[in-house]
Amino acid sequence: MENTKEYSNGEVTIVWKPEICIHSGICARGLPSVFKPKEKPWINQHGAPTQDITDRIDKCPSKALSYYMNDKPQANG
Ligand code: SF4
Repeated sequence: MENTKEYSNGEVTIVWKPEICIHSGICARGLPSVFKPKEKPWINQHGAPTQDITDRIDKCPSKALSYYMNDKPQANG
């Protein structure tokens, strides 16, 4: 089973798969108020508006980060 962590702000759920993350730091550089690699938990899902979070997740090169909106069924892939 793939290890998956989820972080919900009530509107969007951030999904992170640590085994896929290549630690490029793109998420942290783009949105440091949410993605904090030096902290635990490293994702603060309340650190930015949902739109900013989803825009940044779309830029994750490895697709270790994904998300689903809480009012819609989760899309696979
Ligand atoms: S952008 Fe994606 S691959 Fe890069 S550190 Fe963040 S989660 Fe990992």
